[in-house]
Amino acid sequence: MPHNNFCSKNHRYSPFYESMPLSQAQPGRHICAACAFEDGLLNGLNCLEKKTDLSHLPDSQAGTVRHIDAMSLYNLGYSIGLKIQNLDMKNLQKLLLFMSSMSSS
Ligand SMILES: [Zn+2]
Repeated sequence: MPHNNFCSKNHRYSPFYESMPLSQAQPGRHICAACAFEDGLLNGLNCLEKKTDLSHLPDSQAGTVRHIDAMSLYNLGYSIGLKIQNLDMKNLQKLLLFMSSMSSS
């Protein structure tokens, strides 16, 4: 697997993800749950069809997102995206920046 297929964003250390459901269902698959959340959020915001395959997202083996169930996070992001569609893009970018900047240390 190419090294650049791993997520290197700071969001993988966000405490936001610490309380999210763990996944033991797919051993060997460690898709970055934070990337999945953001993908779901953007898909919901844009009223795109919900994805059932997240294999396009990078993996993560570090931080708080490790072993988190990516599909649960995608679905959570999607439902939030649908709810906040009416926010303007400036507010959305602030939200994403805030979430990416939340770091435990
Ligand atoms: Zn990520």
